[in-house]
Amino acid sequence: MSREDCIFCKIATGEITSQRVFEDDICVAFNDTSPQAPTHILIIPREHFDSLDAATTEHKDTLGQMLLTAAEIAREKGFAKDGYRVVINTNADGGQTVFHTHIHLLGGRPFIFPPG
Ligand code: 5GP
Ligand code: ZN
Repeated sequence: MSREDCIFCKIATGEITSQRVFEDDICVAFNDTSPQAPTHILIIPREHFDSLDAATTEHKDTLGQMLLTAAEIAREKGFAKDGYRVVINTNADGGQTVFHTHIHLLGGRPFIFPPG
């Protein structure tokens, strides 16, 4: 399940420390070390798969749980009504730099669309 050389697998197991904001048996959420908004949280599955491009129907429940976790954290942090952005950078042109699927939850400021 976890990959030896993957930073986010190590964050999921606790081998690399992070500021966790939520965890359950499916996913872990923690603060991004390079925040792009007042709140910038990453939601990762405990199970390693490289990207959304690598997802299959077997990941359907996991992806659903990750999205619902993002929405719940946004409500808990108090910016759900104002609004927020969820992002899944996928592969090179998508700007993905860590190849363990993750959702960015960004909140606390307005966002423009389309993003750069
Ligand atoms: P990507 O560019 O792949 O969509 O996003 C990767 C994100 O992971 C970046 O926003 C980056 O700041 C964050 N990141 C990279 N390494 C670490 C780390 O060791 N700890 C934490 N908390 N975030 C990280
Ligand atoms: Zn991983």
